[in-house]
Amino acid sequence: MSGLAIGLDDVRAAAVRLHGVAHHTPVLTSATADAMTGARLYFKPENLQRMGAFKFRGAYNALARLKDADAVPPGVVAFSSGNHAQAVALAGRLLGLETVIVMPSDAPAIKREATRGYGGEIVAYDRYTQDREAIGRDIATRRGLVLIPPFDHPDVMAGQGTATLELIQDVAALPDGGALDMLFVCVGGGGLISGAAVAAKALNPACRVIGVEPEAGDDVRRSLSAGHIVRIDPPRTIADGAQTTAPGHLTFPIIQALVDEVITVPDDALVAAMRFFAGRMKLVVEPTGCLAAAGAFSGQLDVAGKRVGVILSGGNIDLDRFAALVAA
Ligand SMILES: *Cc1c(COP(=O)(O)O)cnc(C)c1O
Repeated sequence: MSGLAIGLDDVRAAAVRLHGVAHHTPVLTSATADAMTGARLYFKPENLQRMGAFKFRGAYNALARLKDADAVPPGVVAFSSGNHAQAVALAGRLLGLETVIVMPSDAPAIKREATRGYGGEIVAYDRYTQDREAIGRDIATRRGLVLIPPFDHPDVMAGQGTATLELIQDVAALPDGGALDMLFVCVGGGGLISGAAVAAKALNPACRVIGVEPEAGDDVRRSLSAGHIVRIDPPRTIADGAQTTAPGHLTFPIIQALVDEVITVPDDALVAAMRFFAGRMKLVVEPTGCLAAAGAFSGQLDVAGKRVGVILSGGNIDLDRFAALVAA
């Protein structure tokens, strides 16, 4: 009826599929962060999720739905060099589906190994001369596999929404808990925030949902002000999980309908947040995973006196790179 790609029922159904498979990550608090902002901050550390990011939720939900179908395909294809690839490979292994991951031939060895370690078959392509979507589609057609996109897919979006479902339920159950007044979520292609906004607006209607993008990659903010999807050049930012060039055709209408505001933060704010999480909360959070927190810390929005949810989206970063960034 709403015309949106997913609703609360889809997120709830995803939560049932993920129960006992995905980690129910905890809610973490920090007296230091509260003192810095004047807010009561509730962090949802998806860097502690299986394979190190919330992407496992969406990938597993999408693949589990394929297994439920009348005609189960032999497997799936994904094109990604990052967390989506590892998420699809792990979900495929758990569900007994073949997974083919189309990755640039110069993808970091650590990412290739992680994907292969989860049982994914890697097909390399030259990112300067070949079109990964065409390669993915060709493999899907030849081998009868289903293409699983990283964000613009209802089952992926619904799976990502389960992180917010858990956060809202867990914060409500705390001794001094209650409804969230605000929720900060990072934005790449918008899969995570569309699931989050659907869950948050249904359960805590007064909750303001705030998207946070890298300053260099503000495709969603621009799309919102234009009133239609705006495509930008690949942004230069350390937030490699948010280097998308446009929101999706399914995610954008949900963002338009349910997200209250989208703000941006510069890369140095991401580094400061990484240092904070490592130093104070003993958490390794990747640069993209720090977007929401950097937005909440930035002072752009008045968070004082409010109950504020903050999703830490992932923690996959090469240790040498982590050390170099936090040392600077
Ligand atoms: C994919 C990813 C994002 C962006 O998620 P979207 O659903 O594309 O908006 C943010 N953080 C991390 C760690 C990711 O892997």
